[in-house]
Amino acid sequence: MLEHERVAIGAGERSALPVIVAVHSTALGQAVGGCRVWRYRDWRDGLDDALRLSEAMTLKCALAGLPLGGGKSVIALSPDTDLTPERRRAAMLDLGDAVERFGGSYGVGEDVGTTAEDMLIARERTRYAYCLPESEGGAGEPSEPTAEGVQAAIAVTLEQAFGTAEVSGRRIAIIGLGQVGSRVARRLAANGADLLVCDIDSSKRRLADELGASWTDPDSALRADVDLLVPAALGGFLTRASVATLRCRAIAGPANNQLADDGVAEALNDHGILWAPDFVVNAGGVIYGSAMEFEGCTREDAIARVGAVASSLEAVFSAARQHAITPLAAARRVADERLEAARSRRAGVA
Ligand code: NAD
Repeated sequence: MLEHERVAIGAGERSALPVIVAVHSTALGQAVGGCRVWRYRDWRDGLDDALRLSEAMTLKCALAGLPLGGGKSVIALSPDTDLTPERRRAAMLDLGDAVERFGGSYGVGEDVGTTAEDMLIARERTRYAYCLPESEGGAGEPSEPTAEGVQAAIAVTLEQAFGTAEVSGRRIAIIGLGQVGSRVARRLAANGADLLVCDIDSSKRRLADELGASWTDPDSALRADVDLLVPAALGGFLTRASVATLRCRAIAGPANNQLADDGVAEALNDHGILWAPDFVVNAGGVIYGSAMEFEGCTREDAIARVGAVASSLEAVFSAARQHAITPLAAARRVADERLEAARSRRAGVA
């Protein structure tokens, strides 16, 4: 069943690239979510990504207690698209037009494959482009607050799984040393974790060496015998089949849409693996951006708000224990209650 309020797909006027904007829900407020520029075998796979990621944004904002809804956009490149700087600029202007047509019900920011500078270009065509560079008065790069939130979520997950949030001596595998993964790795290394890391980009090995972390390939990292797995690359890798081969005790990381489908949450439970829902773990960036761009908070105050990640994850684990359900089901339950209350208020029932 399609739950999305509005989805727009069209070839960009300037770039001729597929520009997809999906608004899942505005029940709690303006739908927000980044624009992913990524290569897909078929643009329809990009549409699937936009639909799934926008729903995750609705859950993320609801659980973080933000007055915002969920949306996402995708510019789908084919495997052989040559994205020259000129075409990239054209695509960002096309994105700005597509966002503007939503009349403010959707606001775009950066995501995998886009930067604050890209948002500045989209801003030439719409007021509703956020995450602008700090030099332009925007919230800037969200990876630092996202990493701050991931670190807080890791502490809550370790506490839940092992009875102590202590990182020192814990064996932790990180998949992906990009913007967020590298920051999380630095924090965990500084706190004495025994790290195993990987990335498909072999140049990231330098960071592993710098941190004294062991380097491995992505498949071995996924299946490593570790206390905690931190997925910080792309999603969809937790399937019923892959879960059966895992040897970690818990999973908490920023990668969006880690589960191939919701049923995988049950498989993780059956396998004795504690899974912290990704959309709770990675909410730091949107909490920070919302405080900076919509409430005019100072950087320090906005970072302090990221502490909400720990309290919402504690609430999710506590609801899961209380009702004997998976953390995913518990998170959906909390989010659904908030969305339903907002819809009732809107309808004038409450
Ligand atoms: P990024 O593009 O900077 O980093 C991703 C890294 O993963 C890259 O170094 C890439 O080479 C590596 N990678 C890709 N596929 C891999 C694979 N199969 N195995 C191992 N490594 C692989 O992205 P990011 O901003 O660090 O985001 C990481 C994840 O967190 C994404 O799923 C993103 O949607 C999510 N997320 C990020 C933020 C943020 O603030 N940046 C906020 C919320 C969620």
